[in-house]
Amino acid sequence: MPLTAAKKIIAIPTTAGTGSEVTSVSVISRGNDKKTTHNPVFQPTACIVDPALTMTVPARTTLITGLDAFTHAIEAFWSVRHSALTDALATEALRVILSSLEPSFTEATEESRTAMAYGSLLAGLAFSNAKTAGCHACSYPLSMYHHLPHGEACAFTLDSFIRLNADDRLESLAKTLGFADTGALADEIYRLKVKGGLRVRFADCDGELDLNRLATESAEHMLMRNNPVQLSVDELKAMFAALK
Ligand SMILES: [Zn+2]
Repeated sequence: MPLTAAKKIIAIPTTAGTGSEVTSVSVISRGNDKKTTHNPVFQPTACIVDPALTMTVPARTTLITGLDAFTHAIEAFWSVRHSALTDALATEALRVILSSLEPSFTEATEESRTAMAYGSLLAGLAFSNAKTAGCHACSYPLSMYHHLPHGEACAFTLDSFIRLNADDRLESLAKTLGFADTGALADEIYRLKVKGGLRVRFADCDGELDLNRLATESAEHMLMRNNPVQLSVDELKAMFAALK
């Protein structure tokens, strides 16, 4: 049946998050299989972003969804489809998220969760125009074979991609965000993951590790084309092998 535009979609996010309140992205899961679809009919007519709705979200989910928002912003920044407008949105999203993510999951203050709701919204606006890249491409097989929730799957390779994608633009972004260099930014992501008890190695994950399958399916995912560095299957395999 063809999709036709609904009269009105009012999006009300309850996590900070997916950014779905400002995108036309929809994720469909069937068993372990998970696919993304983009269609203008999913674009909300309006959204109501009320951080009060995120106040009871548990700490772990807050960190996982917050790292998803961080990944949306940084991937919009380094996407080959980036523009001056998406750079501005992504940079502000990253600034807001970096200053509020840790208090939002350790203390759940109203101030930090309000900031995260704003940061997630900005990140959604950035990636809906620039698209995501390598971390998201890898997240689908990681969720499928190792049962990681979406944000944790994106975060699993986030610090690796920050190191792999490092260039002058990213170095300058890291400095703008208050870090000495891209390595220090990657270290901060790793620190937040460990502090929040997220999985950082395959040894901590479910499922049998098949490096060939993971690297091949990640390389073939359409979002990998948006990555600023075109990684071969062997290079992706080496990245995953370092996370054993
Ligand atoms: Zn995402």
